Amino acid sequence: MANLFESRKDSSGDDLRQACSAENKIEAQTSNQDSSRRRFLQLAATGTAAGLAAVAGMEFTPATALAQSNLSPDAALQQLLDGNRRFTADRPTSFEQDLAILKQNTMEKQEPFAAVLSCADSRVPVELVFDQSIGHIFVNRLAGNVATSEIIASLEYGAIVLGTKVIVVMGHGNCGAIKATIQAKEVPGQISALYPHIQPAVDQAGSDPEAATKANAKIQAGLLRKSSTVIAGLIKESKLKVVAAYYDVASGGVTLLE
Ligand SMILES: [Zn+2]
Repeated sequence: MANLFESRKDSSGDDLRQACSAENKIEAQTSNQDSSRRRFLQLAATGTAAGLAAVAGMEFTPATALAQSNLSPDAALQQLLDGNRRFTADRPTSFEQDLAILKQNTMEKQEPFAAVLSCADSRVPVELVFDQSIGHIFVNRLAGNVATSEIIASLEYGAIVLGTKVIVVMGHGNCGAIKATIQAKEVPGQISALYPHIQPAVDQAGSDPEAATKANAKIQAGLLRKSSTVIAGLIKESKLKVVAAYYDVASGGVTLLE
């Protein structure tokens, strides 16, 4: 069996291909807690010191420090929404988790339970918004939270290899990318390359920024569901859910749009 811990030491093309192998897919989708002892024994057989140390550490890790589990897509979404409730109530708990342990446990392997596609806007700090820490969310950010083919590729990797259970496409209040598309202003450089991705939402919702932002999140979520055979397949098997959401920069609250 290929050594999972050695195969993910860097992000080279070879490494990605290895990580995408069917064998690792099965490994990535296996419950952390259930498989840690089995992996320990496998690694013991292959005698990899670093791997042994990493898995040995996991044996003593509280469940809360392990991101992925057998969560259903609905439960994964609920975990995010619960985190957002703690964030808006100013009672976050993620800071209580030991970052040294989290770093140690995720050094060789990540198993985020959720993916988020959000805008690059500095007022949308995704981990803070959902009160999560290292190794928990596979965050993809691009101005306007648009599902370009590169973003789809990234989210497919998160879902099929890392085993994310839910993808949240999150627009936000006061989004500059949405406003710029509505205004269709001349802009320097390649900024206007974002416009065609957002224009369908403006066509649909009109010139109200909030309405266009919400329409855009729903359109991008729909694109993910339809244009990716990987994501569509996982949804069909009830292993993944894609939802659109809106982040209110004033209240810090996240609202599901569908
Ligand atoms: Zn934005």
